[in-house]
Amino acid sequence: MRTLFDYPPREGVGGIFPTCDVPSGSPAEVLGEGLVRRNAPRIPNLSEGDVARHYTQLSKLNYGVDDGIYPLGSCTMKYNPKLNEDVARLAGFADVHPRTDEPLAQGTLRVLFELSELLRGISGMAAVTLQPVAGAHGELLGMFLFKKHFEERGETGRTRVLLPDSAHGTNPASAAVAGFSVTEIRSNERGTVDLDSLRAELDSSVAGIMLTVPNTLGIFEENILDIARAVHEAGGLCYFDGANLNSFIGRARPGDMGADVFHFNLHKTFSTPHGGGGPGAGAVAVSEKLVEYLPVPWIAKAGETYRLDWDHPRSIGSIHAFYGNFLVAVKAYAYLLQLGDEGLREVSGDAVLNANYLQERLKKTYSLPYDRRCKHEFVLSGEGFPDHVSTIDIAKRLIDYGVHPPTIYFPLIVREALMIEPTETESRESLDRFAEILETIAREAREHPELLHNAPTRAPVRRLDQTQAARNPVLTYPFGEQTA
Ligand SMILES: *Cc1c(COP(=O)(O)O)cnc(C)c1O
Repeated sequence: MRTLFDYPPREGVGGIFPTCDVPSGSPAEVLGEGLVRRNAPRIPNLSEGDVARHYTQLSKLNYGVDDGIYPLGSCTMKYNPKLNEDVARLAGFADVHPRTDEPLAQGTLRVLFELSELLRGISGMAAVTLQPVAGAHGELLGMFLFKKHFEERGETGRTRVLLPDSAHGTNPASAAVAGFSVTEIRSNERGTVDLDSLRAELDSSVAGIMLTVPNTLGIFEENILDIARAVHEAGGLCYFDGANLNSFIGRARPGDMGADVFHFNLHKTFSTPHGGGGPGAGAVAVSEKLVEYLPVPWIAKAGETYRLDWDHPRSIGSIHAFYGNFLVAVKAYAYLLQLGDEGLREVSGDAVLNANYLQERLKKTYSLPYDRRCKHEFVLSGEGFPDHVSTIDIAKRLIDYGVHPPTIYFPLIVREALMIEPTETESRESLDRFAEILETIAREAREHPELLHNAPTRAPVRRLDQTQAARNPVLTYPFGEQTA
């Protein structure tokens, strides 16, 4: 693949510019000696047509949710309705300045207020903030809220956060960044938290637990009420990671399960694509005892007027400029209004049905270490194939078939993990096609393992030498080799 710098330079210029209306004279006379560059800039000299073709060709090498199934476990890479993009692009939303006076920003404040109310209802909790801009950012906020809670109570000895080994990777990182130490709780053979191991850890040094719901195996903690009760009885708090909300939205509420903090990934569950490099939003809901610590400003409503309310002296302060990523909130709001109660129940129903459909079919071909009903995702193992075929080979071979591989080598509690989340928006036809390809690859692994070891062979980039890439990373484009 060439970059624009690798094309042979054209004669002349690539566009037609208006006549120069800057005073003429030598650049040194006009700008002053110190501002004149000594060498010509290294800018590729190409025509507009060359550049358009270059970028169009590059864009065709991309793979996204609009191309086909994107079964990246944990990421909820589902189809996001284009209508919500249109709504977020309306000038009244897209062009509003964050410092617009409140009387002129009533519509935007109303969207934020009403979205918070909808999320509060979905969570069954006391209050919601939209300020965090990622799931992990919501987790960090949650950990700050834990801290503040224990500081105000004078319980500063609570320095440990308990984390099941089935938690999402950002959970222990967030706890550690907030200054807690992390104690790992082993899962049992059913893939859920072992209650006895949990109880053995509960003492006055424990700030609380962070629970991914459902966990990274796609399994719901069937003892979640007992877990929450045990933690609360020991004086701790419960953080529930809600990035997997598409598996139970409209059917169960974290507030009823004992959550003190719950984060939403608006950019997974509610119509903003995850992993697109764009902005995210990690709204956070809290139980009654943490409400006063929420970041300022709050969005307040008095009569029909909305305003930003900074008057919360016990707040931990702001954790992001202004009020988070507003346009992500707009998309979530549009999505919620479109779907309504019934639609949201369908989301979770379809997410769980699709995952179980695939799991039942694929467990005939691949090993399934935790063989039980899953929620929105499940984790296969790439173990058991001859000739050192491993999960990375299976993933690379999927690329040859034009399919995005699932998440691999995570969660760590499954060896050679293939973590598959089909999401609620895939059709039966698309699930069958994905399953057929994985079945073909399993056959190839037994009969022609070299096909897997050499994959991908049909992609623009072949298999990288991972050892070289780690040991001798080349991090900059070699401009030095070009002549100006
Ligand atoms: C994606 C995810 C997160 C982190 O969200 P980011 O927005 O990527 O920071 C946390 N927990 C779970 C379970 C997730 O799937």
